[in-house]
Amino acid sequence: MNESVTVAGVTVEPGERRDVAPAASEWYTGDRTTLPMAVLNGVDDGPRVFVTAAVHGDELNGIAACRQLLDTVDASELRGILMVVPIVNVLGVQMGSRYLPDRRDLNRAFPGSHSGSMAARIARLVLEEVIAGSDAGIDLHTAANHRFNVPQIRLDTSDEDSLGLAVAFGAPFVLDARLREGSLRAVAADRDVPVLTFEGGGPHRFDTDAIDVARRGVLRVLARLDMIDEAPPPAHESPMVLHESRWLRADRGGMLEMHVEPGDHVSAGQPLWTTVSPMGAEHNVHEAEEEGYVIGSTTLPLVQPGQALLHVALPGDRHPAEDDPTDEEDPELDPYDEL
Ligand SMILES: [Zn+2]
Repeated sequence: MNESVTVAGVTVEPGERRDVAPAASEWYTGDRTTLPMAVLNGVDDGPRVFVTAAVHGDELNGIAACRQLLDTVDASELRGILMVVPIVNVLGVQMGSRYLPDRRDLNRAFPGSHSGSMAARIARLVLEEVIAGSDAGIDLHTAANHRFNVPQIRLDTSDEDSLGLAVAFGAPFVLDARLREGSLRAVAADRDVPVLTFEGGGPHRFDTDAIDVARRGVLRVLARLDMIDEAPPPAHESPMVLHESRWLRADRGGMLEMHVEPGDHVSAGQPLWTTVSPMGAEHNVHEAEEEGYVIGSTTLPLVQPGQALLHVALPGDRHPAEDDPTDEEDPELDPYDEL
């Protein structure tokens, strides 16, 4: 039998779900804003796992995935504790912005403090009530503005247990990604809480495919941790584990004609895009220098020289979704990459 758990002053008994809304900040009017979260306390012992979404307020796919997750998981059949925070950056979502009202990036504000900026205070609340005491977490993101990401999990693949969870998730790609100072994932890692960062789709919209991959993936991680009995089949049977990626940039400005799609495998010498001058005379074809997989792309139709157009990862190893994790080397990620 499980024990009761207390989150933000609210006690949740075994087999019970309670929705908790601690004070997060205030509007200019002085009205309180809260950080709504669902706490599902299982009937039996098990790990404590959190799922967070919309740390960036314009990244909406995770909100929909959380909602579907809460429709699926029942505390009376759960082992362990599941905490779901569909909207971490409540103020950013209200404004339709990646950032907080003061332009701070919440995912650079961890571990935060009780007396710091608004971002620091929200980060601290999330750290104390959600991350601390958890055994693992999944943080749901999308690409940044004017970009699209193929569904992918980012993590430190040198941690075998985390890699096993990432492969079980069943997104088409698993990408080794270094920790960014101030991010939710980095501060959790400092406390030995492994976090899978999911990236899928783009901002300001619901991408049905990315939401479905996220929903299945979270359930598959919970099943792998033996918290639930059944999970849907993986979105992709054999995720590709990639260790190195880079953004390819435009050589010339102009109108963009893209020749590949997110998810495509590309070969050396293959034309990736053409930039065309609006007058029609000048064409500049950019060919791939090496083999790779397109894991992200721009969504803008007009480009300037130096603009990042395609995020391409070098070929890696395929892992059957249920396979045991293997030891991997430590790669470098292009610093331009965004979470
Ligand atoms: Zn993000």
